[in-house]
Amino acid sequence: MHIHVLASGSTGNAVLFSLGDNLILIDAGVSARRIERGMAAVGYRAGDLNAILVTHEHQDHIAGLEVLARRHCIPVYTRPKTWKVLACRDKIPPACVKEIDGEVNIKGVHIEAFPLPHDAVDPVGFCLYHRNKKVVLATDLGTITEPVEGALAMADALVLESNHDPEMLANGPYPAFLKKRIKGAYGHLSNQQAALLLTRIPRPPVMQVLLAHLSQQNNTPRLARETVGEILANKGVEREIKLYPTHPDTTSSVAVL
Ligand SMILES: [Zn+2]
Ligand SMILES: [Zn+2]
Repeated sequence: MHIHVLASGSTGNAVLFSLGDNLILIDAGVSARRIERGMAAVGYRAGDLNAILVTHEHQDHIAGLEVLARRHCIPVYTRPKTWKVLACRDKIPPACVKEIDGEVNIKGVHIEAFPLPHDAVDPVGFCLYHRNKKVVLATDLGTITEPVEGALAMADALVLESNHDPEMLANGPYPAFLKKRIKGAYGHLSNQQAALLLTRIPRPPVMQVLLAHLSQQNNTPRLARETVGEILANKGVEREIKLYPTHPDTTSSVAVL
């Protein structure tokens, strides 16, 4: 079982999960061509995808969706409300338009959607269960909620947002309204919030965590890893949680232990 973060951040998100002989992509926020290339580089063909799951309608999660789904005829799952606001819906073959309300089974992979606090119509994260492993993706959330804590509990591997450093955001180039949006309850998690969340949830003996959706303006992979790592060390749990940084345009791969 492998997780390949093909792209991550405000410039586009696409995360590939290979679970046994299942291939599932969460979000297609960079061009179809980039996703195809990224998949080829780790030994897969886009045509072999069993499904694309879409978390929400923001452009950095759907930019390549229409072309990718149409070109390879891949079923696309998202919330009914999200389908309503996706302009590309009409261009995706009707047979590929699938709704996910709560849960769905795709070739032996059990998938659950859970709500995220974010400024989209019905944003979700996903839990994927395969054999005895649980992997979870939670990016684009402004605060820590009970459903989020519940969804992340006992995950073997996690793709978790660690969007910004609050000081870099405050002193950075973004306009005031955007700064407010990012740090708001429906914006994005800071490095500190991501760390706090990790210390609060029940975990297996080892939890692998890919720090994702890092801001290019208000964070760096190194700072995210160091900040989260320090907070985990202060709580004495740094050995139980293995951190992996991700990058906007290079693939980060992890074999789920
Ligand atoms: Zn978003
Ligand atoms: Zn996003």
